Amino acid sequence: MAHTLFISDLHLAAERPHINRQFFDFLDRVAPAAQALYILGDLFEYWVGDDDTENPLNDDVAGALAQLTLRGVPVHLMHGNRDVLIGQTFADRCGARLIGDPTVIDPHGTRTLLMHGDTLCTDDVEYQEFRAYAHNPGNQRKFLAQPVTARREQMLGMRAHSNASKSEKSTEIMDVTPSAVEQVLREHGYPRLIHGHTHRPARHVHTIDGRNCERWVLGDWYQRGSYLRCDAGGCKSVHLEI
Ligand code: MN
Repeated sequence: MAHTLFISDLHLAAERPHINRQFFDFLDRVAPAAQALYILGDLFEYWVGDDDTENPLNDDVAGALAQLTLRGVPVHLMHGNRDVLIGQTFADRCGARLIGDPTVIDPHGTRTLLMHGDTLCTDDVEYQEFRAYAHNPGNQRKFLAQPVTARREQMLGMRAHSNASKSEKSTEIMDVTPSAVEQVLREHGYPRLIHGHTHRPARHVHTIDGRNCERWVLGDWYQRGSYLRCDAGGCKSVHLEI
């Protein structure tokens, strides 16, 4: 049956080779049967720029995605908060199309809004301030003007800071804000939203303006991979075997 696949929050890194293998296996065995693959952010644990050619994992990922597109499966790539600096150069190497956040698609007859999910966490004011800084084109240019090694050091420093601050915040503040979910579904015409970022895989049902809506939260790939498969009958979440 014609279907579309959605993944996010793989956080690929050289330190987690078993997950990288699972991802390559997924691209080789599962994804080729799909009509399209959507990667909704945080494909990588961190991204210092498309000119970071020292990490062989980046090449391997680009090669595997390009292979999938050669087999006739279009790959759509959305930025997450970890890999916001993925640019056209790397997307071209993957044969992938960069898509904006949010993007509306209509797979198999259901209007579906795609987001990474971090913009829905509006209660986390500190994070939203950081996000605005990280998305500022001037700040990005300044960052990318530095040598790769300096960028990597800064990025790893920021990551350590973010992990420390996360452990101090309440779990509610880091989840999506219900009113933000309502607002985006209303703005973009209902009835389905798919996002990642929170690492709390689930299907939520919302009634918004009298409309039945559903929100699928994608799982992360920390312990093992998972994906969402949508066809004309609906969506289901699938875990990969370890
Ligand atoms: Mn994220």
